Amino acid sequence: MAIKLSPLPYKHGDLEPFLSEESVMLHRTLHHQNHAENLNAAIRGTKFSDLSLADIVLEADGAIFRNAAQVWNHNFYWRCLTPESGKRPVGKLLEAIDAQFGTYDEFRCEFKRKVKNNFASGWTWLICTSSGKLKIINTRDSETPIVDVNTMPLLALDVWEHAYYLDYKGDWANYVDNFWNFVDWHFVIRNFERA
Ligand code: MN
Repeated sequence: MAIKLSPLPYKHGDLEPFLSEESVMLHRTLHHQNHAENLNAAIRGTKFSDLSLADIVLEADGAIFRNAAQVWNHNFYWRCLTPESGKRPVGKLLEAIDAQFGTYDEFRCEFKRKVKNNFASGWTWLICTSSGKLKIINTRDSETPIVDVNTMPLLALDVWEHAYYLDYKGDWANYVDNFWNFVDWHFVIRNFERA
């Protein structure tokens, strides 16, 4: 069974002005879809061909791992976004953010610092550890937190240059600032409740 991209829960243009329609469309087709096509070509006729995407990520290495992890990471990233945000974290998640980082604003500053330190291509994540602690972590290239059973990803930001260059050129800081207005906190909270 071929691995498909999770459908976008909005249209390509719905994330403006955070991301332009062209940039979301190119990101989906040139990057996300490409990883899925490379993955499907690589697993055809192998022991991976009947596994779920997450199981391929957990069991594969090399090019199969890289493409599977990038399909998974991008599926997750698109789900973290919504045109209807402009909101803030609430409830137990907000309590956990306040406990760990001080305030929501301090959390966002810390997240931005982490993005700045993500010098290579990669991803910046808010995760919850198995002991219930929130952490902001970076992963390089296609690496993904789901390979660690003690880590539940809550929120992801793609900080590969292809994610923001078309709209922001080198201004990654503005990309991070605008991200917060389009975060789907319902999705993040659901992930936190499952952690
Ligand atoms: Mn990407």
